[in-house]
Amino acid sequence: MTTIPQPQIAPAHPNAEPGTQFAVHNPATQEVIGTLPNMTANQIAEAVAKAAAAQVRWAATPVRDRMRVFSRFAELLCDQKDSVAAVISGEAGKPEAEAMSTEVMVVLDTVKYLQNHVPAFLKPEPVPHGNPVMKLKGGTLLREPYGVVGIISPWNYPFNLPSIQTLTALATGNAVVLKPSEFTPYSSLELEKLLRAAGLDPDLLQVITGDGAAGAALLAANVQKIVFTGSVATGKRVAQAAAARLLPVVLELGGKDPMIVLEDADIDVASSAAVWGAFMNAGQTCLSVERCYVQEKIYAKFLEKCVEKTKKLRIGSSCLQTKAQAGVPVPQDSPESEIDMGPMIHERQLSIVQSHVKDAVARGARLLAGGKPLTQLGPNFFAPTILADVDHSMKIMREETFGPVLPVRGFKTEDEAVALANDSEYGLAACIFTNDRKRGEALARRVQAGTVMVNDVLTCFGISEAPHGGIKASGIGRTHGRFGLEEMVWPKYVDSDRMPRMKKLWWYGYGPAFGQQMGGFIELLFAKGLTKRLRGGVKSTKSYLRRRLL
Ligand code: NAD
Repeated sequence: MTTIPQPQIAPAHPNAEPGTQFAVHNPATQEVIGTLPNMTANQIAEAVAKAAAAQVRWAATPVRDRMRVFSRFAELLCDQKDSVAAVISGEAGKPEAEAMSTEVMVVLDTVKYLQNHVPAFLKPEPVPHGNPVMKLKGGTLLREPYGVVGIISPWNYPFNLPSIQTLTALATGNAVVLKPSEFTPYSSLELEKLLRAAGLDPDLLQVITGDGAAGAALLAANVQKIVFTGSVATGKRVAQAAAARLLPVVLELGGKDPMIVLEDADIDVASSAAVWGAFMNAGQTCLSVERCYVQEKIYAKFLEKCVEKTKKLRIGSSCLQTKAQAGVPVPQDSPESEIDMGPMIHERQLSIVQSHVKDAVARGARLLAGGKPLTQLGPNFFAPTILADVDHSMKIMREETFGPVLPVRGFKTEDEAVALANDSEYGLAACIFTNDRKRGEALARRVQAGTVMVNDVLTCFGISEAPHGGIKASGIGRTHGRFGLEEMVWPKYVDSDRMPRMKKLWWYGYGPAFGQQMGGFIELLFAKGLTKRLRGGVKSTKSYLRRRLL
């Protein structure tokens, strides 16, 4: 383990007054990275008004020209990946390796996805008609941008979440006003900087800074859609505020994702997946393995492997940004560049984790690794923790822990595993480990979750084509892939009649027999049996000859 000097404890963010400044801290060292304004409701409304004016021009810009900005952005991000990763790592505390693989790389892949798919996605789509009477019309589906999309983001993936959502909104012709978490705003400011350097009109993406009050002000401003990512509690407040204005929302909320390990699984692979899935980003991932169910035959061996691997993890801090700012060179082979797990974001999050572990142990769980803060590293470090023999009476199996804890329990049958996995208020993602892919895929259909991975964990977020989002308390709507694109546009249906000089048979001038004739027409189309249909056809013929149309 890397040891760093004991830092001063930073104060928790006060519920700041708009118009004041707030400080952003490195969660590993507590050093102040910088201070930013708590923007006022007026400033936020002004940003939205400017975005709305710019959006009109942007929506009229051909898609290929929009994509040129994206190409330049991708080039710049690729060139500046080290400095961007250092900003992410500095304010979120994650290892630089994770900042690269789970943030920068995913964003670059999204740009590629958008470049490859958005031109076709925005092409008018023909809507063929089934009803023979409607065959004389041509139907077309258009996808219209909402206007200004308000994006509100959390701190755990401070670059990839706001970037993916912003790029998707911009690609489809929207403008964006983005409110990042008050704990990690600098990653969003990097995104803003890069897009502007790539040639984007500065009004089309504006980052507004501040805490929850700034998010609430964005909801109250003249945005046409909100994409919110964060906790269930805040998500409910956002949904209420949006409902009052009938504002469409996407809610990407918390999870309590289960992992099911069947007895035929490769124990070495499954235990590595569990350890990475539970401890990556210090367990602060919406898709983290928060519950693990292992078939009884391999339960003991699986736990043994997990403990062995957990003990090998190196905990510490990359601190690249802080060191770089101080002019201290960070060689690639220094212990700092080798850490596996960093700190948690703040002490409030750490105390939730601690209380869940304490509750589980008090109710009979066995603590096999970790279980305590690593105060020698700093106030936000918590040891990667393994709990065995947990049950569903424990908070650790019911509430989102959002920290480095792997709680494990055994099961006998597949039915029991499915029942346990589905016994949750959440439904974000799940994973199943088995050497029999067909068995895994069949089981996946029975698990209530937005995504189920067979023989991998978390990685689904890095697949730009795959929709991301949950059911139950995990949220509403999707980001990423085709479903993510659909969330950024509203469907406009245009119908064009091919016979502009012809009055329609069903218009006014019904007369006494038209109802009967229509009845005959219905029979012609839908009745069972040829005789009935032919009889209906005869009854309806006179309707085609109606002359008294108004
Ligand atoms: P949070 O709900 O505390 O804050 C999220 C954002 O909402 C922040 O920018 C915050 O300033 C803002 N906010 C707070 N009050 C607001 C209000 N009244 N109106 C509008 N905005 C307001 O969440 P967090 O602690 O930043 O993030 C952790 C949570 O996010 C976890 O529950 C995690 O599971 C979830 N999450 C979900 C996904 C997903 O894709 N489903 C991804 C990442 C994180």
